[in-house]
Amino acid sequence: MNSKLEDNNTTISYFKEEIERFVKERKWARFHKPKDLIQAIGIEVSELSELFLFNDLSLDAIHNDKEILENISDEIADVFIYLISLLNSLNVDLTSAFIRKLKKNKAKYTIDEFSDGSYHKL
Ligand SMILES: [Mg+2]
Repeated sequence: MNSKLEDNNTTISYFKEEIERFVKERKWARFHKPKDLIQAIGIEVSELSELFLFNDLSLDAIHNDKEILENISDEIADVFIYLISLLNSLNVDLTSAFIRKLKKNKAKYTIDEFSDGSYHKL
């Protein structure tokens, strides 16, 4: 591999293949049922949330502390890894799902109704 992998030069397929290989090499497919993966995602989201528990971390504070930013990034990666494994388990095409759902969200939250900056409409 010649270049460093980053967001701007990596595909969803790359992640799916890497996780599929990681799981297969360890014979973990039997543990990666949808229910287990969804629970694992929830646990990893909790671990991410825990980093913000009982503190008042501002965006500036996070960016000025490499250790905190790395811990946050690690937990985000854990969530992402289980999401990718869930996509693999269910054979979901993320790009198609993203496009379909964004289209629904655009219809549900129209620019006309929400361009005033409000988030909730009662
Ligand atoms: Mg974790």
